Order: sequence, then C-alpha cells, then structure tokens
Amino acid sequence: MNDVIVIGGGPAGSTAATLLARRGLSVLLLERDRFPRFQIGESLLPYNNDLFDRLGLSEKLQAGDFFPKYGAEFVTGDGTIGYTFRFDQNLAEQYHRSFQVKRSEFDHLLLRNAAQSGVEVREETSVTAVQLDDPNRAVIETSTGERLEARFVIDASGHGALIGNRIGGKSNVESLKKVAFFAHYRNVPRPPGRDAGNTLIVVLRDAWFWMIPITEELMSVGLVVDREHVKSCGMSPEELLARTIAETPYVANRMNAAERVTQVYARKDFSYAMERMVGRNFALIGDAAGFIDPIFSTGVFIAMKSADLAAAAVEQRLRSGSMRFLRNYERSVKGALHKYFRFISNFYRREFLEVFMQPRPKFGLVPVIVGVLAGNVFAERGDRLKLDLFFALVAVQKHLGLIAPRIEWERLPAAASV
Ligand SMILES: Cc1cc2nc3c(=O)[nH]c(=O)nc-3n(C[C@H](O)[C@H](O)[C@H](O)COP(=O)(O)OP(=O)(O)OC[C@H]3O[C@@H](n4cnc5c(N)ncnc54)[C@H](O)[C@@H]3O)c2cc1C
Repeated sequence: MNDVIVIGGGPAGSTAATLLARRGLSVLLLERDRFPRFQIGESLLPYNNDLFDRLGLSEKLQAGDFFPKYGAEFVTGDGTIGYTFRFDQNLAEQYHRSFQVKRSEFDHLLLRNAAQSGVEVREETSVTAVQLDDPNRAVIETSTGERLEARFVIDASGHGALIGNRIGGKSNVESLKKVAFFAHYRNVPRPPGRDAGNTLIVVLRDAWFWMIPITEELMSVGLVVDREHVKSCGMSPEELLARTIAETPYVANRMNAAERVTQVYARKDFSYAMERMVGRNFALIGDAAGFIDPIFSTGVFIAMKSADLAAAAVEQRLRSGSMRFLRNYERSVKGALHKYFRFISNFYRREFLEVFMQPRPKFGLVPVIVGVLAGNVFAERGDRLKLDLFFALVAVQKHLGLIAPRIEWERLPAAASV
C-alpha cells in the first residue's frame, strides 16, 4: 500500500507528489492524459519563485522556451486610460520576474520532475471511483481496472473536482458566470524592452481581454465574457472572438497583422468554491479545492502553493495522526482565495477600475496592487489594513468620485453582438 495517491498531474498534483516523495513517503500519481497536453493558464506570478527554487526548477525555467514577465498592464478598450504595474516597483529582488509559459511544456517539466524525485507516475490512467469510508486509508479504482489502496489520497483533478463532487459542498459563484474564448496568434507586436513580457488586460464595458506573450513568437489572446451574453448573441466562439477583437480599438490596433495558429478554445463557468477541503484520509488542492476568475492569473500559483502547504500537512497527519495540520491548511487556502475573491468580484465594477487603473501615489496604492498581482496573499497579517484602505477609497469613489477621474463607461467598447 502506498502512503499517498495523488489524482491528477497538473501543477498542483505534481508539486504535492514531488514534495511528499522528497519527504520520504511512497507516492503514486495517476494522470488521465498523456503529457504534454494542452492546458490554459499561461501567466505565472513572482511569488511562485521560492517554490520553483525548492523544486529545483528555476534554472530549467530560465533555460526553457518561456517568456520573462516583469509586470502587468491594464488598459481600457479605447486605450484612453491605462497603467503598467511592474514587480520591481516595491518587491524584493527575487520577485521582480516571473514567467509566461506554454502550459503543455511547463506541466510536462513539473511532471518529469516528480518522476525524477521518486514519484511513481502513471499517465493515461483515470481515477473512476474513490472510497473514503475507512478513515485510515482510501481505495481508488482506475480506468485500467485496478483497485489501489493508500493511507491518504490527494485530489488534484482540477475543475473535475473528483472528490469534491462526491462529498458535496461545491458551489458556483453566481456573480462570476463567465465564458472564456481563447487561441494562440503570431505576429502580434509587443512593447519594447522588459515590458514585452507583460500580461496585458484590456477592459471592456461588459468583458475583458488577456494578451499573454508565451514565447518569442506566440501571443495567447483570450476574451472573458458573461455567459448570458454568449447565450443571447447567437455567434460561434470564433466569430465572437474575431468580431470583439475587431471592434475593440486598442486590441484591433495591436492585432491588425495577427495570424491565428490554433483552434479557438472555450471554458465556461469556471468560478466555484469548495466548502470542505480536507478529511481524515483526503485533501483537495489546486483547482480541485476552488477556483476564481482568471483575471489576476492566480490559478497556477494557488495550485502550487496549496500543494506545498498540503504536502507538509499530509506528512504531519500521517506521522502524528492529528487533523490539526490539515485544518490549518484549509484555513490558509480559504484565506488566500478570499483575498482574491474580494478583488476579483469588484473588478467588474466601474468605481473599482477607476481607482485601480489610476492609482494615486499619495494613497500608496501601487505597492498594494503590485503585491496582489505578484501573489502576496498567503501572509497572515500585515497587508490587511492596506487592502481595507484600498476598498474604503473605492467606496468613496463610488459615491463621491473624489479619488480618480471617472471612466466614460458608456463610451467603452463592449463584447460584439448581432
Ligand atoms: C480561461 C482561464 C484562463 C486562465 N488563465 C490563467 C493564467 O493566466 N495564469 C494562471 O496561473 N492560471 C490561469 N488559469 C487557471 C489555471 O488553468 C488553473 O488554475 C491551473 O491549471 C490549476 O492547476 P491544477 O493542477 O489544480 O489543475 P489542472 O491543471 O487542471 O490539472 C488537473 C489534472 O488532473 C487530471 N485529471 C482530471 N481528472 C482526473 C481523473 N479522474 N483521474 C486522473 N487524472 C485526472 C487532468 O488530466 C489534469 O492534467 C486560467 C483558467 C481559465 C479557466
């Protein structure tokens, strides 16, 4: 019997498996697909860098075909208001740079690293059922017809949320019912110098674009739009994406010579919360533990950070029998998700964007925003007051408009409709 079975070999699963194997536990990882496989989520955050160091991946990331990211730019669709946040504005030097990645290659690197660290990795093996009735072991059934046992199981199955769906308590975030359409393009020019690697977020009245330079030549472009709009507009994903690009001046300008080199992919209704993340013989990590709208590129960082925290908690649980460590793990992850939820649920409001995209130096907002954009959300204390100040200013802006110039909302471009 293995100590731990990990379901899923994305960033969460391979990170947890690697760290547990390095702690001397026997770990079996079961992955449904064969890597490399396509996945979305291409922009990483600098606060992941410490973990890359510990996993021994920093040099490989620098040597690989990944693009350095030094910040993020937010701009309105008509190009009239915008701000570039750079990680060197207030962060320690090890957080000045992150990466934009082709996920097929990045995830494969992490999975190979798990195997090299002593994890038994089985690809093309889907977990079809999990039994959790005995608190001291879990029984797993696979698509290959096997029945496997472990002292503990970690669910890193992503949005499929295998165990979460079984135990219940998964709820969609009603206010964030969105659909994303995205593809890779060539011939999209970038700003000069270090800003070439920035994530660009273009804000529309009822939607937003991302533009992420994932290699020297490829740009990932995605449109996130309300599900209701997609239902009512009657357009195919290709048409909605192409027409909204053409009708958004700032994006159209950048993409006038662009050539689409992949199909248009779609993901829908991706924001959800999980009431419970741990039990005596299981833990949920990464997207399987919850996911919020991708606006701040937080997914991979939270996936890997939650894996890191869970690995330590699972080891303690198996060595001591105590549940305390797993409960602390759940509290930390819920706390971080809550901080992002506060930012993200407000991102779709005009007054929030007015303050966020025109940060006044006298209020000291830039360091707060840069911290959030970099992934500084797992600290227990310290930045809470600064975040409260930020939201107090947003409230003043809403009622009095004194904090920043108003955005002419009605004049912003919107998602295309017939
Ligand atoms: C539109 C959109 C844009 C995004 N953009 C960003 C971004 O810019 N930056 C960012 O950091 N994040 C982004 N994300 C989020 C990011 O994609 C995820 O948060 C991240 O992939 C989570 O990693 P994970 O390991 O938890 O899950 P996944 O990457 O989904 O990995 C789960 C793995 O489990 C396997 N699996 C599933 N079911 C089973 C089973 N039954 N048995 C065995 N294996 C199974 C799957 O094959 C998969 O390989 C975005 C998400 C969306 C929807």
